[in-house]
Amino acid sequence: MIFGGTMNKELLKADIESVLSDKYEVTADKAQPYQLHEALSSAIMKQIAPVWKDSRKAHLATRRACYFSAEFLVGRAIYNNLLCLGVEDDAREVLSSLGAKLSDLEEIEDAALGNGGLGRLAACFLDSAATLSLPLDGYGIRYKYGLFKQSIVDGFQKEEADDWTKYGDPWSRRNESDKVIINFADQSVVAVPYDMPIVAYGTKNIGTLRLWQAEPVNTFDFLKFNAQDYVNASIEQIKAEDISRVLYPNDDTREGKILRFKQQYFFCAASLADIVKKHKAAGYDIEKLYEKVTIQLNDTHPVISIPELIRILVDNEGLSFEKALEIAKKTFNYTNHTVMAEAMEKWGLDIVKEVLPEIYDIILQINEAFVAEMYAKDMPKGKTDYMKMISGGVVHMAKMAVYCSSYTNGVAALHTEILKNDVLKDWYQLFPEKFQNKTNGITPRRWIALCNKELSSLITEQLGDNSWVTDLSRLKTLERLRGDNNMMQRFMDIKQEKKNQLAAYMKAKDGIEVDVNSIFDIQIKRLHEYKRQLLNAFSILYIYFGIKDGSIKNFYQTTFIFGAKSAPGYMRAKAIIKYINEIGRLINADEEVNKLIKVVFVQNYNVSYAEKLVTAADISEQISTAGTEASGTGNMKFMLNGTVTLGTYDGANVEIVQEAGESNNYIFGARVEELEKIMKDYDPRKLISKNPKIKRVLDTLIDGTVSDGGTGDFKELYFALTDGASWHVPDHYYLLGDLESYVEAKLKANSDYANSRLDFARKCWANMCFSGKFSSDRTISDYAKEIWKIEPVQL
Ligand SMILES: *Cc1c(COP(=O)(O)O)cnc(C)c1O
Repeated sequence: MIFGGTMNKELLKADIESVLSDKYEVTADKAQPYQLHEALSSAIMKQIAPVWKDSRKAHLATRRACYFSAEFLVGRAIYNNLLCLGVEDDAREVLSSLGAKLSDLEEIEDAALGNGGLGRLAACFLDSAATLSLPLDGYGIRYKYGLFKQSIVDGFQKEEADDWTKYGDPWSRRNESDKVIINFADQSVVAVPYDMPIVAYGTKNIGTLRLWQAEPVNTFDFLKFNAQDYVNASIEQIKAEDISRVLYPNDDTREGKILRFKQQYFFCAASLADIVKKHKAAGYDIEKLYEKVTIQLNDTHPVISIPELIRILVDNEGLSFEKALEIAKKTFNYTNHTVMAEAMEKWGLDIVKEVLPEIYDIILQINEAFVAEMYAKDMPKGKTDYMKMISGGVVHMAKMAVYCSSYTNGVAALHTEILKNDVLKDWYQLFPEKFQNKTNGITPRRWIALCNKELSSLITEQLGDNSWVTDLSRLKTLERLRGDNNMMQRFMDIKQEKKNQLAAYMKAKDGIEVDVNSIFDIQIKRLHEYKRQLLNAFSILYIYFGIKDGSIKNFYQTTFIFGAKSAPGYMRAKAIIKYINEIGRLINADEEVNKLIKVVFVQNYNVSYAEKLVTAADISEQISTAGTEASGTGNMKFMLNGTVTLGTYDGANVEIVQEAGESNNYIFGARVEELEKIMKDYDPRKLISKNPKIKRVLDTLIDGTVSDGGTGDFKELYFALTDGASWHVPDHYYLLGDLESYVEAKLKANSDYANSRLDFARKCWANMCFSGKFSSDRTISDYAKEIWKIEPVQL
């Protein structure tokens, strides 16, 4: 048996050899990394198959939760699965006996079926649920192309398709018997499930991530399904395969919007068909669906599930609309992930009607049911009109989600408060009992046990065993070691080792050389204006000019590391990437300063890169404008690996500081309550004219200090800050307003590091010790108890 840290090594060896010879006609010592990966992974898949099957049965036999998400940013599976199964050493041994190396699999690329935090959260949640033996399974889309691969060419982002299954996909199992037909007004497609095992750490439960792939309907399907299930296979506006071709197709055009809408419906309808089928096959009453199944909607992308379930219940099961709506309300829950107005998803009714006429009718009925309910409650008509989900020719998905679900949650305490008091205020007043907070978390398996073996060993040594990997709150007992200078020295040595490893990796991968004795100050996350990478760039220039004019002295050498992808059509974000690279070029070439500051931008930031970056940071940059970052999870990864946060009072930073202490972090900038007042009469031009230092930094966008390659993009950034644009006021993310308090905090962190490495290490240590709250095990047990009401399965 493979669990509990022993594996049948002989069998594994034989299976690896046979895959290599049957499939590739090579021996292990001559095999390419992808061939070894295929062989090792499929050998392990074979060994875990019986437990996976038992787990699936156990999940179906009890009340279970289903996590619907358009994104699952799972990253690389192989090392994580070996870790969770406790068989890394066995695998290493077997491979080396065959003349191959486990470390060769470093070349295997990530499954990047997501954009960023939201998708990574979904992956961490599945990991935690599996490890807690909870019956939770994921449902999403098997994109043929994941998030694009990024390279930086002459400072600009270049995108390339990410054909992630090019060399196979040994961790997925295609399941022909669970195929379903999905009907749109103009086409029918087949949804074929590919299942990935979600391996628990140290226990037997294996969850399933079921990703649907769109394929054309063929004769076989025609025979298999009833003819009535099959609307219009011949007319194909969009080719069937296009529906699962790319993550987030460009939705600037109407065709792009339709495709995206089809993607959402495609995976929701397939998942619901599957859930209903399994429910009925087990002999359960369809009217009691909600007793056996609870569905979590990860943001609004899967909210189209609500009218789809109602359609199934009415059309296929013969229930009344009222009954179906009631069942839907008891089945679904909704997680809100953003307060950004532009991310509040709405669909034009014209598109809904054209693509899914039946769903359109049901949405109208849901809207009417809401209006009727408000009327019965004596709600003023004006307010009902303002709140209803259909208005202005669009359907507001978040409104439909709140109305048609049992619980709505935010993802950090501050975010949930903003939902209740601002974004969804009317909804909170109407349904206060529906609102909950579930502060996000990260899985300690991937984000420390796997990526930071050195620190993990130290923790295990000090705690006596490794049970902290599934009980992260145990770390707080290590706080007593803060005063122990020997321990702090060992901790610092580990950080140094991780910095050395990262430096070697950046050199090999990106050709970047860094000084491992400098402070590593790291900002890694999607490129977005609200995340304020541009503010970070400004602060670096501010310090650069300060060093040059002598106003900043004793600056400790620092490497500022950025990693970020910009959405391909997001011009400002791309301009910011170029700007960071250009100031890097300027500073790195300046002999006067380049011993003290280096700016680097790593290419193709993804989960595997994050695993290396979060362990090697001295400073974690979490600098979003207060009130804009719902939670953040990158902040938690750094904290767990013993890093101080340089950040604003935003998202989960607030809770990080609550746990680890303000004195162990560097907090700056205007707070949410302050910004409300400040922004009323904020005039960045006044600020610029009064403050020559800020002006000098800002002017680099237009005075030729750095070049945007003739695109005019830097000028556009400049005017967005000084004059605003048709859709926003000047400097709407308050970069210039926060700049000086940010620089001050940054310099404070810098001098603290320079003054006493030991005391700085104590702060880092405290962050690690108090990071227990941010384990996604905590988040998931809260969801399980307070929203899903599910219990662990026994295997
Ligand atoms: C954790 C993670 C994120 C989220 O980072 P934030 O700083 O919370 O935005 C994004 N991308 C990757 C690859 C991650 O691992």
